[in-house]
Amino acid sequence: MRLSKFHLATVKEVPADAEIVSHQLMLRAGMIRKLAAGLYTWSPLGLRVLRKVEAVVREEMNRAGAIEVLMPAVQPRELWEETGRWEKFGGQLLKIKDRKDAEYCFGPTHEEVVTDFARAELHSYKQLPVNFYQIQTKFRDEIRPRFGVMRAREFLMKDAYSFHLDAEGLEREYWNMYEAYGRIFTRLGLKFRAVQADTGAIGGNASHEFHVLAESGEDAIAFSDGSDYAANVEKAEALAPAQARPAAAAALERVATPTQKTIAEVSDSLGVAPKDCVKTILVRGVEGLVALCVRGDHEINEIKAGKLPELPGESLLADEAEIVRVLGCTPGFIGPVGLPANVPVIVDRSAAVLADFVCGGNENGSHYRGANWERDARVTRVEDLRKVVDGDPSPDGQGRLRIGRGIEVGHVFQLGTKYAEALKATVIDQAGKNQVLSMGCYGIGVSRIVAAAIEQNFDAAGIIWPEPMAPWRVAICVINPKNDSAVAAAADALYAELDARGVEVVLDDRGLRPGGMFADMELIGIPHRVVVSERGIAAGTFEYRARRDSESRQLSREDVLALLAPAG
Ligand code: ATP
Ligand code: MG
Repeated sequence: MRLSKFHLATVKEVPADAEIVSHQLMLRAGMIRKLAAGLYTWSPLGLRVLRKVEAVVREEMNRAGAIEVLMPAVQPRELWEETGRWEKFGGQLLKIKDRKDAEYCFGPTHEEVVTDFARAELHSYKQLPVNFYQIQTKFRDEIRPRFGVMRAREFLMKDAYSFHLDAEGLEREYWNMYEAYGRIFTRLGLKFRAVQADTGAIGGNASHEFHVLAESGEDAIAFSDGSDYAANVEKAEALAPAQARPAAAAALERVATPTQKTIAEVSDSLGVAPKDCVKTILVRGVEGLVALCVRGDHEINEIKAGKLPELPGESLLADEAEIVRVLGCTPGFIGPVGLPANVPVIVDRSAAVLADFVCGGNENGSHYRGANWERDARVTRVEDLRKVVDGDPSPDGQGRLRIGRGIEVGHVFQLGTKYAEALKATVIDQAGKNQVLSMGCYGIGVSRIVAAAIEQNFDAAGIIWPEPMAPWRVAICVINPKNDSAVAAAADALYAELDARGVEVVLDDRGLRPGGMFADMELIGIPHRVVVSERGIAAGTFEYRARRDSESRQLSREDVLALLAPAG
């Protein structure tokens, strides 16, 4: 590509409303332009990168045996009524009407459409297993679209859906996709982790998210420093401490804490560490209040708590009036000692091995010191209730957990029969009986990957593309071609030679000053740069520099070709 014939529109200023590096650099490089909240045009430069990602995803999906389809973006309400998601999907679903007032949504995902396709197309076990995928525009009316294409409203997703006779078939394809995702992110040159994800009601090892590791990531993930184990912080198990609970040594003593309500205030004024205090919260259970206890330095994990049989699927804090009515004190003073007999006391594994601890006195302005489980406070059950923290032992027994941040770029999920049941998608099995299809779904945020890659690969000068994603691999910069026709001729010849050898090369023939030209090529992240100048031609060399290098080298034409387009 000759840059004089392309549309490159870089910007010098850092855009004011762009908070994260990838958003800033995509705007500065002129890769995207905002139309409205969460809606972006991909410029010719941006599109080149997007297409690279798309091509790798498509190739690896095909190689893994998935078959490409293209489904409508606009989907009829009736289909979404069949699965109950017209209402349940909530505010993210963009609902639209046609001229006859018939209702549709702009697809945020395609389980309904693909299952409708499957119920019409699949009749016999002989057609299974099958995995249909597409690369297509989705719309989700995100509450807070932000970070450019990272969390947009309209975005490009690769979504695949597999169909199986039974759970075993589904599981086999699940791991096949899991492996394919690993190949995709490896090929794109990204540092990533496959992370166990919460599966809600489905449970089991049925879902992984693929995260690109980056400081700016919206998700906290826990990963072992001694193994492959990684999980969403919400999902990661906090093991029970290895040591048993020491015997009670202190007597129970009520102490005055007139204004101290938080763990920090209480531990400060009593001179005890937060880890020797018990924090108690009251939540609304299926039948009345439930007490949840964790160590003072730990936090309740809402997702784990929500799974307790005593709770209605989520954990909702009891309101203050109710607490005052039942306990006679306000929330800052709740503790497990002397709670009413009908309030179950669920104690976290780490809190359960404390002895002689500090806790709320169930009376305004007082706490207990020297409290002990069983002797002073009832334990209904010990459970894993807390969020893991940095340094916890890894649940797989190898290494310690570290907490990092990630950007979710892919998600694989064993859905089971949920959608096939709702839409009555069945096939005839070997015995001639009707079988509801088992189903898996596998998403990749194609457009999000572009931003995520930048979060991992940039410096002060701009983007540093991993080679497989670069808009061009090589930039040839020509200095003052108008002064010396030999310079222009040498640049043209090198360009033609690299192009003929299949190297994606861009020739910067815009006639800019060297400084502006180099700044642009660095900003847009071209991995290799070759400078053609009068001085170089006289010496028989080209100046070469890799995007990550700090120094240039003078190379002969043969060396340049050997480096950038090795034969064979
Ligand atoms: P998130 O938790 O980030 O909102 P999600 O879990 O809702 O994502 P999925 O339904 O699993 O997303 O969609 C598959 C993939 O699509 C995600 O892994 C992500 O990479 C991408 N994706 C989802 N929402 C957006 C968005 N608003 N903008 C860009 N990409 C998105
Ligand atoms: Mg997801």
